[in-house]
Amino acid sequence: VIIMGHVGLHHVEINVSDLAETISFWNWFLNDLGYKVFQKWDSGQSWKLESTYIVFVQTEERFLSSPYYRRHVGLNHLAFHARSRDHVDEIIATLREKGVPILYEDRHPFAGGEDHYAVYFEDPDRIKVELVAPDETENP
Ligand SMILES: [Zn+2]
Repeated sequence: VIIMGHVGLHHVEINVSDLAETISFWNWFLNDLGYKVFQKWDSGQSWKLESTYIVFVQTEERFLSSPYYRRHVGLNHLAFHARSRDHVDEIIATLREKGVPILYEDRHPFAGGEDHYAVYFEDPDRIKVELVAPDETENP
């Protein structure tokens, strides 16, 4: 028997400064994208979509003194697929309602290039999040 597994990204794990804040921020967004809560424990939570999950873990107190900077070595941003340009717009409306800072607002929604319809925003640790619409020139 040949078992064919999924290939691609299995999971991403990110340490955060305040897990409760992270959960309340990410839960609506990930749910909107179709992710479901996958694992939940005192110091962490994950959400899964198909074969990929994203995990947030509370950083231990003794390591909290060095904050996250996306311009330093390490993770710069996480990018997600949106269902459509309308979906990106819906998320933008919710972000504005929630008072979430939207990045590059002057160049929005083409900050990533003229064929790249996306929104960029920041999570509570200022991790940059990107939501990208499908290429409508390929899939009209
Ligand atoms: Zn990107």
